[in-house]
Amino acid sequence: MAIQSLNPATGKVEKTFEPHTAAEIEKLLQQGEKTFQQWRKTNFTHRAELMRFCVGELSGNTEKYAQIITLEMGKPIQEARAEVKKCAAACEYYAAHAEAFLADEQIKTGATRSYIAYDPLGIILAVMPWNFPFWQVFRFAAPAIMAGNVGILKHASNVPQCALAIEEIFLKAGFPKGVFQTVLVESDGVDPLIKDDRVKAVTLTGSEGAGAHVASVAGKEIKKTVLELGGSDAFVVLKDADLETAAETAVKSRMINTGQSCIAAKRFIVEKPVAEEFIQKMKTKMAALKTGDPASEDIQYGPLARKDLAETLADQVKRSVAAGAEIVLEGGQKDKETAYFQPMILHKVKPGMPAFDEELFGPVAAVIVASDEEEALLLANNSRFGLGGSIWTQDHAKGQKLARQMESGAVFINALVASHPEMPFGGIKKSGYGRELSYIGIREFVNQKTIWLA
Ligand code: NAP
Repeated sequence: MAIQSLNPATGKVEKTFEPHTAAEIEKLLQQGEKTFQQWRKTNFTHRAELMRFCVGELSGNTEKYAQIITLEMGKPIQEARAEVKKCAAACEYYAAHAEAFLADEQIKTGATRSYIAYDPLGIILAVMPWNFPFWQVFRFAAPAIMAGNVGILKHASNVPQCALAIEEIFLKAGFPKGVFQTVLVESDGVDPLIKDDRVKAVTLTGSEGAGAHVASVAGKEIKKTVLELGGSDAFVVLKDADLETAAETAVKSRMINTGQSCIAAKRFIVEKPVAEEFIQKMKTKMAALKTGDPASEDIQYGPLARKDLAETLADQVKRSVAAGAEIVLEGGQKDKETAYFQPMILHKVKPGMPAFDEELFGPVAAVIVASDEEEALLLANNSRFGLGGSIWTQDHAKGQKLARQMESGAVFINALVASHPEMPFGGIKKSGYGRELSYIGIREFVNQKTIWLA
């Protein structure tokens, strides 16, 4: 079946692409393997120089790439521009630091000399989602390529233009053909790629189901995986929090990318004495947001990336309300023919309801009232996921103590959960394993080799 690039704001099919044939995929793998044998021998100065041409290409054409993102998955244009800029920053970060992160590490032992060397592995397969269609890819590609690997991208089927544009960026920057390639296949084309001997490891960002499947196939092949999966992050508001800032950040976090972010706050756990005031503040701010054409400058949220995503979210809301949740802010999928979904706030959410147990991948905030901070922590940890929580309190010691007890890959105190190139990013529990970014991320796809001189 042809792969479609469909504008979710209009429902119009913009372009279609034929999936790669088996013969084309074989050529791509051959090219990747051939290029790897050369690329692995290049030095960091050369790799950094090309990576900085990537920075130039992204920075010089932010508008062009932002428009492709907005057209294909409906991200508000200002957010799409910010995404492209963030990609440039990640390329610059690894251009500047990869050599130091992967320098030989001398270890004192009984040997004359003993050290850890970080060698590249070969072709790394990246299976990526549509929600941050540039960022997720560059977050993987910049460190992997700087480490001397080559990449093959299987992007989500609804963002083929983004996938091809990213391949072009690497070629325009002067990277040899085969350092970064896009394969156009649907999800059923992933298994044969994982099983191919030339593919040495797999990274997947996406849903729990996709991660479990890809990891099981890779596990059978004894191939390393990094999984960046879903989240249902807790946003814990204690009674001594700065409520105005907390509510403002709560709305920002829930509404980033029209609610379609893995690290968006999804469960708002609020201490009882401040619950009503916090909800009212959140409601006022959320109701004031403007929607419309994501390509226009003055909107804060657009359509969801696909109509079926709006339908899934509407069903989760319906099941939560049937189980006792109360609607504080009315919204939802008003026109069933479109991918637009107006923000909602659900109150009196409890464990056992879809709004508590499942990931709500869209603009629906679930509020849960906790009697005290101990209960707030128990509720926060009562989730199959563990990606990036936040805690709001003016007591910094208490915030850090609770942060240590939160079951999550990251905890932000009095701040929006976000990824930063300097800090590792990833989850625990069903949110996945492995880390991206920082020096830890670049060491995921290398052979951490012991060298011992007697
Ligand atoms: P998805 O449906 O799992 O798709 C992600 C990628 O996996 C796509 O390329 C998809 O290809 C592929 N895929 C799906 N099922 C597969 C299978 N059985 N075998 C092999 N490949 C398969 O996820 P999504 O809807 O695009 O993204 C939303 C999810 O990603 C949310 O759960 C979100 O929280 C998570 N996410 C996590 C992070 C993180 O860093 N932790 C970041 C962003 C998003 P097709 O498109 O062809 O189906």
